[in-house]
Amino acid sequence: MKSDRRAVIVICDSLRDDLINAADTPFLVELSARATRFAAHRSVFPSTTRASSASIATGCLPARHGLYGNTMALDEGEGLVCRNVGAPDFRDRMRRATGRTLRVPTLAERLRWHGEAAIVCSNVSPGAAYFQDPDGHGYVYHSAGSYGPGLTPVDDTASAVLKKGIAGDRAMTERFCADILEGRAPALAVMWLSEPDYTGHHSPLGSPQHREAIAAADRCVRLVFETVRRLDPSGEDILFMTGSDHGMETISEAIDVTGLLVAAGIKAAPDSHDIVVAPQGTSATIFFSDAARDRVAAAANFLRRENWAGRVVAGADLATVGLPPDGALQVAVAMATDDRVNPHGVRGYGAIVSNPDDPESKIGFGQHGGLGVNEQNPFLIAEGGGFAARRETRPSSLIDIAPTVLRHLHMDHDDTDGRALPLSA
Ligand SMILES: [Zn+2]
Repeated sequence: MKSDRRAVIVICDSLRDDLINAADTPFLVELSARATRFAAHRSVFPSTTRASSASIATGCLPARHGLYGNTMALDEGEGLVCRNVGAPDFRDRMRRATGRTLRVPTLAERLRWHGEAAIVCSNVSPGAAYFQDPDGHGYVYHSAGSYGPGLTPVDDTASAVLKKGIAGDRAMTERFCADILEGRAPALAVMWLSEPDYTGHHSPLGSPQHREAIAAADRCVRLVFETVRRLDPSGEDILFMTGSDHGMETISEAIDVTGLLVAAGIKAAPDSHDIVVAPQGTSATIFFSDAARDRVAAAANFLRRENWAGRVVAGADLATVGLPPDGALQVAVAMATDDRVNPHGVRGYGAIVSNPDDPESKIGFGQHGGLGVNEQNPFLIAEGGGFAARRETRPSSLIDIAPTVLRHLHMDHDDTDGRALPLSA
């Protein structure tokens, strides 16, 4: 198909729907008045950026795309070891351990015959960026390395110098508008901002710093939208979607789940390969070697007795939270959350799972990964391509974005877990 139809997606990482207001996000409020605002939009589980990135790219839940969070236990021949999905080399480790990266096609793969098909600019972790297009069908621009079709490295100095935060997001946005949207005009252009996630992890939610990061993301979205509508004033050709991947809760306490499982006699030792806890912020996924499978029920029952644990799912029940029931991942725990209000007026606290590789998670700052109402409260707004002014209260999910893009581009979209979002009548 060759038409002028295009889709542009801007993700404001971690921006909670209830933090959109006239003072901090004047543009998103203005856009909501002329667009479709999805009022019951939900994240996937774990509500981490990397699993979410794969779900947005594929339209499938983690159970089907195979990326189960920000960390994952892999067996590369020496037993289960927890690996950081954010690391630049993770997709190579995943290929070694499982023979492939994602198990279902991304938008970039589906669009690969389109010439200049899919271009992704991302200022979050390399892992989250690369899982938009892990096998190199289009272009991914990121500070840790940019790649073109065939995973050919692209020497992109503009991306190489980007740093997470307000200034880096702004520089990426200006480049995205000028070079990508106006210059190259791909069928799909995705831009993933680091804010307000980056600041939310380093300051209290609702603090002046966090609100400034939200306002900065709002200005970036405005810049992209104004470019899109200058290129397509009628809104018939270019579908514009902006949203977030998840929200955040305020961290109440940190729980050493690995240490507690060892102390309870369920896991052999902190670094043992029998049972491996993969921390996901406010949740954990727990992997079991074949020899440790008979301890699944004991681990789940242990977690269910702890007051810091919220929902605990094991075995076949994993399917109810979008995780696969038939692999090494056998238990998932979403940490307990509550609706206390933090010192800056932002609702929602949750415990986190201790992660030695993430020393920046501090009590009082923001985190996500679980099933709390606030971390499961991303926003989504669609404009153009048949989405007119309306507030949509029927439930929607991250996995509905890909089929919506495919429908707009007149492509098959009935094999995803999500469904194309209802157009305005
Ligand atoms: Zn995120």
